[in-house]
Amino acid sequence: LSLDQPLDSASTATLQEWESQLSQRYEAFKQANLKLDLTRGKPSSQQLDLSNGMMTVLGSDLSNEAGTDLRNYGGIDGIAECKALFAPVLDVNSDEILVGGNSSLTLMYFAVMFALHQGFGDLGDSWASEGKTAKFLCPVPGYDRHFSVCEHLGIDMIPVAMDENGPDMDQVESLVRQDDSIKGIWCVPRFSNPTGIVYSDEVVSRIAGLGKIAGRNFRVFWDNAYAVHSFSDDSPQVASLMAACRAAGTENSVYLFGSTSKITYAGAGVAFAGMSAANLTAFKAHLGMTQIGPDKINQLRHARFLKDQDGLAQHMRDHAAALKPRFDIVLKHLNEGLADSGMLSWTEPQGGYFVSVDTLPGLAKQVVGMAADAGVKLTPAGATYPYGNDPEDRNIRLAPSVPTLEEIDQAMAVFVTCVQLASVRQKLA
Ligand code: PLP
Repeated sequence: LSLDQPLDSASTATLQEWESQLSQRYEAFKQANLKLDLTRGKPSSQQLDLSNGMMTVLGSDLSNEAGTDLRNYGGIDGIAECKALFAPVLDVNSDEILVGGNSSLTLMYFAVMFALHQGFGDLGDSWASEGKTAKFLCPVPGYDRHFSVCEHLGIDMIPVAMDENGPDMDQVESLVRQDDSIKGIWCVPRFSNPTGIVYSDEVVSRIAGLGKIAGRNFRVFWDNAYAVHSFSDDSPQVASLMAACRAAGTENSVYLFGSTSKITYAGAGVAFAGMSAANLTAFKAHLGMTQIGPDKINQLRHARFLKDQDGLAQHMRDHAAALKPRFDIVLKHLNEGLADSGMLSWTEPQGGYFVSVDTLPGLAKQVVGMAADAGVKLTPAGATYPYGNDPEDRNIRLAPSVPTLEEIDQAMAVFVTCVQLASVRQKLA
């Protein structure tokens, strides 16, 4: 339903009229027995198919350029071909990268756990040895699995606000100055999960500076999961964190992560971590306690299939061709149904996997519930906040990569109606 004026200027009579029309529309959706799902931030099978060539690229030669037989044990930090391919993605040197198994989340979990319990080798002792509960800053809304890593390891979380430039750095700097038990911050710098924003150059430079003002052994966890996942060649870039750290002399205060989960296969990709050579020495020693080496055959497959930066960029254009039309439908519905309505604000991402929306305060859970009753599954409200607690109950994450264009069209019609109806009812109450 296209509402002809903002919520705040509508008279009670108009609101009542809207309420009755929207209720009818909502009831009709409920009768339609829809079964739609906007929860899954994963590639569609159409996207996975783009990488099927990877399954036949190997042939019988399973040695790399160094002549190592990759079928055997060893090489905890991965093969040189993959280091050369992925170091530019994180913008680190080729001696500042480790290429691992299929999951960057695993590398992040290990990095936090090693820092907490094992320490940083020559660089310093573990956080636990300081005898205080470690804390992490969590820009919100953010990625729920970052928050669950902290929860699982007994690390306290402090939410910090974000805007279109990234985390509120005044708040971040003041917190780390005050409290030396703050040991980390989670960052998704490009096409952030869920807001899709790209950190500004100033934010990147101030994040690089945190190592100078934070307490001992502070680390930035720079999860560049969507580093190359843009919808067009002129989408905004993120400045190089490691370059900013070199300028500030804080190379040891950052860990960078990425993976090909949304480049090749989400379940069988390659993950990588970037860090200073000193950090890498400690990290490799700890990781070596958990395995003798990663799946180097899968790494070789990736190197031969993606080839180089040009190959990677072309492959990501093919992903964009699948993703962009899906995001366009989401945004078309939001713009047509809710622009200037005073009912919802949202981001228009230029890459990544999500559209993040904010309802009026106190309505996110209700909208998610109403959509579910009409057959449209959405990510639970609150999931984008530490402990699942969105204090204002506003944020909802929409993930349109998997459903078909037609399914997204239907799901978004329902979603817009739910937002309109919940907002009108709240205004009338
Ligand atoms: N980091 C972010 C920000 C993500 O959104 C995701 C997946 O959705 C991951 C990490 C998971 O990465 P991986 O598959 O490499 O473990």
